[in-house]
Amino acid sequence: MSVRSLILLFNLVAPPMALAIWGLGGSWFWICGALIPAHALWLWATLVPNCSWWGPQLRRINSAGRNVWITIDDGPDPADTPQLLDLLDGQGAKATFFLIGSRAERYPELVKLILARGHEIGNHTYHHPAGWFWFFGQRKVNDEITHCSEVLKAIAPGLKLRWFRAPAGFRNHHVHPSLEKSGLKLAGWSVRGRDGVSQDLGLISARLRSGIQEGAIFLMHEGRVDQKGNRLAPQVLACLLDELQKADYKAVIPTV
Ligand SMILES: [Zn+2]
Repeated sequence: MSVRSLILLFNLVAPPMALAIWGLGGSWFWICGALIPAHALWLWATLVPNCSWWGPQLRRINSAGRNVWITIDDGPDPADTPQLLDLLDGQGAKATFFLIGSRAERYPELVKLILARGHEIGNHTYHHPAGWFWFFGQRKVNDEITHCSEVLKAIAPGLKLRWFRAPAGFRNHHVHPSLEKSGLKLAGWSVRGRDGVSQDLGLISARLRSGIQEGAIFLMHEGRVDQKGNRLAPQVLACLLDELQKADYKAVIPTV
């Protein structure tokens, strides 16, 4: 039996077990003893980044050489995306942009531009409900994923989507069944600069630099500004590309 099935089974039997213990006059110690571990396992599988208990998640690319994968979340962004594309093209680097469906709908020309410049596009939900996606039921998870795919495919007919990234990396047990239906795979990461929460370029770049190695997956975000109000993503990407070049690594789109 898979870890996924065990956790789901445990969460299914824990509430009636707790109820039975309560009915038999058992103490709170035993009632909590039935419920807390079941919920803790569910929360761990859902909220711990890159945990694969609910299903497979790519955390490193199969690399035959000094190759890495740069992934850029939360676009498209009219201020950042064109600059990011110029930086990538300037170094002959390729990246995957995980786009939010509602933003793609607002800036369809940027979606087309990313593809025209030879980069890849991934699904990052329609609304990007970062605070609640992990708590959604099957129908809402499905809606977020399929609606985003539909928007991207309407902008770029014939587009073949391969990857999905969950908002903030949180994903519950409903996500993998939805991905299977949509023909998508879950993309994790091996290193992130935490540029979604930090505005400190030095700190963000140091975190990314520490993760440079064969097969690394870098996670960064667009649509943010630094402490001085300057666009953050182009600065982060410029530093990362520079470090990769110095260490003789190539940013590619994985074939798996
Ligand atoms: Zn995001």
